[in-house]
Amino acid sequence: MENTLHSYDPLNGESIGSVPVSDTEAIQNLVKRAAKAQQIWANNPLQERVRLLQKAYTALEAQEEKLAQLISREMGKDSRRAQYEAGGVVRGGAWLAGDAGEALRTKRNSGSEIQYRPLGIVAVISPWNYPLAMANNLIVPALIAGNTVILKPSEESPLVADLLVKTLTQSLPEGVLQIAHGDGKTGEALVKSSINMVAFTGSRTTGQKIMANAAPALKRLVMELGGNDPMIVLDSANIPQAVQFAVGSSFENSGQMCTSTERIYVDEKIADQFENAVVALAKQYRVGGWQEPQVDIGPLVNQRQHQKVVEHIHDALDKGAKLLLGDRNPQVPFIPPTVISGIRPGMSMEDDETFGPIVAIDRFSSVDDVVERANNSVYGLGAVVFGESKEAEQVASHLQAGMIGINQGAGGSPWVGAKQSGFGFHGGAEGHRQFAQITVLNR
Ligand code: NAD
Repeated sequence: MENTLHSYDPLNGESIGSVPVSDTEAIQNLVKRAAKAQQIWANNPLQERVRLLQKAYTALEAQEEKLAQLISREMGKDSRRAQYEAGGVVRGGAWLAGDAGEALRTKRNSGSEIQYRPLGIVAVISPWNYPLAMANNLIVPALIAGNTVILKPSEESPLVADLLVKTLTQSLPEGVLQIAHGDGKTGEALVKSSINMVAFTGSRTTGQKIMANAAPALKRLVMELGGNDPMIVLDSANIPQAVQFAVGSSFENSGQMCTSTERIYVDEKIADQFENAVVALAKQYRVGGWQEPQVDIGPLVNQRQHQKVVEHIHDALDKGAKLLLGDRNPQVPFIPPTVISGIRPGMSMEDDETFGPIVAIDRFSSVDDVVERANNSVYGLGAVVFGESKEAEQVASHLQAGMIGINQGAGGSPWVGAKQSGFGFHGGAEGHRQFAQITVLNR
């Protein structure tokens, strides 16, 4: 990589701005500054750290519109969803700081005092699909715990992360929050540097590399990785409700969401009705650029991602699945709303994370078999079941996922995966405390 990183508009491939790349020497300097700042930062009482962070979020309010625009321009998110993400971060940041402050207060437990002490320097490495929220959610609790943070945002969305860090740092002591720009090489150099913890959100394969590079020093890790979320639709389901969820969750963020519904198994008794209603609803989704009004599906983030989704479509159709809606050869940068029926194990659409706006369906006749099939994945992020509530509860009790939804989406606080979807959390008391050295003191 050269020493300048450009951010490209996925709609036309044009550069919309650039940032300097952090080479190994620059990273060493960031780490030195972070180590020095950490001593001072950790000396602030917990409540003072909360106060300073909350002040920083008040200053961020003035940037809300600009942050939303950068999200759209860098990764193509439609303006309504980009505003939702930016608004959540700007208005939720102060709350998150207060919540972390609560979770990290010294406690007593059967005669011992439980202290939540800082770990040191935390590297937060983030993806592009929720480029602001994914960085922000881990930065805040890491700082409240008394650590300093170096953020390495995705090379696909450096500008929005840069604005976040530049604005927050105006209210924070020097060196407490810094940013390192670049691709995986920069991330790797940061992981190998003298930091104490890596809080990573991204793909499973990158997670494996980070774990290997963190292993020699046994650095603390948070791994929020990919998913291949199943949805099971029982014959007792409220069909319109299930259809609404199936389409909405498959197309959300153009399908580029870690908890997107990736594969749907519907009882054969209601399958025709379900598929027809899915196609009818999917046809109503509008495709376009973020500046166009009423857009539901934007461009995919880049050509590589587009090509991967097209390959998954070809693989499924070549192996016998049926295209109920969509285009076999969609042109860059869009994938139109796509519905595919008859996915099977052995197809990449069933076995891997596709990350595109596709409703992928198969039918089942045995509930036991479908549970086994839903669990037949290295991933275990989210899973959902639609059906009569007792029956759905029963099925849900056998699903292997960190987050399970019954007649609704999966997810909450903490945000957590099972199996190779990772370990560690976004949010919740568990999520805040993962950034601390828990110290048990008897006196
Ligand atoms: P990615 O793994 O390609 O990149 C993520 C980050 O890691 C980027 O900043 C990248 O530069 C960096 N990186 C790449 N190689 C590295 C290395 N060797 N060492 C250190 N850092 C390195 O992921 P992506 O394409 O940006 O994001 C999409 C993935 O993230 C999907 O799999 C999605 O499911 C997952 N995701 C998971 C969650 C969750 O909460 N579980 C949330 C959002 C996204």
